Amino acid sequence: MQMTMNSNQTPPQTPPHTPTLQSRLPNVGTTIFTVMSTLAAEKNAVNLGQGFPDFNCDPKLVHDVTGAMTRGLNQYPPMTGVSELREAVAIKIKAMYAYEYRAAGEITITAGATQAIITAILAVVHPGDEVIVLEPCYDSYVPNIELAGGVVVRVPLTPGTFRPDFGKIAAAITLKTRAIIVNSPHNPSGTVWTRDDMLALQDILAPTNILLISDEVYEHMVFDGQQHQSAARFPGLAARAFIVSSFGKTYHVTGWKVGYVAAPAALTAEFRKVHQFNVFTVNTPVQYGLAAYMADAKPYLELPAFYQRKRDLFRNGLKRTRFKLLPSEGTYFQCVDISSVSELGEADFCKWLTTHIGVAAIPLSAFYGDGFDQRVVRFCFAKKDETLNSALDRLARL
Ligand code: PMP
Ligand code: GLN
Repeated sequence: MQMTMNSNQTPPQTPPHTPTLQSRLPNVGTTIFTVMSTLAAEKNAVNLGQGFPDFNCDPKLVHDVTGAMTRGLNQYPPMTGVSELREAVAIKIKAMYAYEYRAAGEITITAGATQAIITAILAVVHPGDEVIVLEPCYDSYVPNIELAGGVVVRVPLTPGTFRPDFGKIAAAITLKTRAIIVNSPHNPSGTVWTRDDMLALQDILAPTNILLISDEVYEHMVFDGQQHQSAARFPGLAARAFIVSSFGKTYHVTGWKVGYVAAPAALTAEFRKVHQFNVFTVNTPVQYGLAAYMADAKPYLELPAFYQRKRDLFRNGLKRTRFKLLPSEGTYFQCVDISSVSELGEADFCKWLTTHIGVAAIPLSAFYGDGFDQRVVRFCFAKKDETLNSALDRLARL
């Protein structure tokens, strides 16, 4: 029998409802950085948790950006980034690492390193492809791989030292391995890969088709005379690498969210196919401002000394506490072992420290898929000296 309805009748009413859905990221909550920054604000704690400077960038950089706005550079830029900025990046990479990228086809400006990394992953990872991450690792990598339908293969860095174990890395490689993500200087541990580390990686990858995503956002924060070993220094790595960096870290403007990717033309072409549909273009006046500002190499050349002094100030102050200091060879992070200070696990300790001592930190367990707790927490020392001193005074009470 056919159902008929005359125009005076209304269909049975169901209350409006939001359809239930199956989460694409069932294991993901709010990032630890947001959680700890929110708690720090609520408790009026000194926030040494989330990594960002609490001081201003160079006024010249603001001047260069606002100058671009005033000149009317406020509409869409080219999809790949403004050519002046891509050229400036190519010149910097050549000067620092003696490798020549062509700005036109091999450098793309991104909305921060975060977008660069997810875009590279979406561009190359097919469902079922394996991607190796070295744990502890930055918290966006794993959800990015999962969104691409990839399979995450976790290889631990050596507990205690956080050095790469190339035996374990080699053993994790299969015919399905599509890419490996490497991050040096390393967040959260502050370790820096050596030339021998990079050569070992180059040797392992040489007989394979595995791509390298080299997260080098802390490239200009390497201390004690060490040099950053960019993948660009190693032709066998550069030929298979997406090298990612972030102007936010280098120029104290994390909120501007501008970074770049350098990669061989064939990889860049695939990268841009995704980039044009997930962000299309990146803030125009900021790009012109950065291009003008980069004409002077001094700001990034002086960055290691700038942060080394802060690291030393912070480490010296921490000697007044019972924390055991781990090395900080690079980045703006200092890790400490909490075992002689507290019985608490890392996450509970960070909450306790924020609430009762008034200093926020980040538990290293947040950088592991299984929440591995080695009783180590991370502080960020990208802060004014007075902020660091105020945190140290509070920590001295421990
Ligand atoms: N990778 C690492 C290792 C980081 O520490 C950060 C900074 N949060 C990023 C990527 C993201 O950088 P951006 O803010 O430029 O997106
Ligand atoms: N890179 C910074 C950190 O590791 C900030 C990250 C973020 O807020 N997503 O703390």
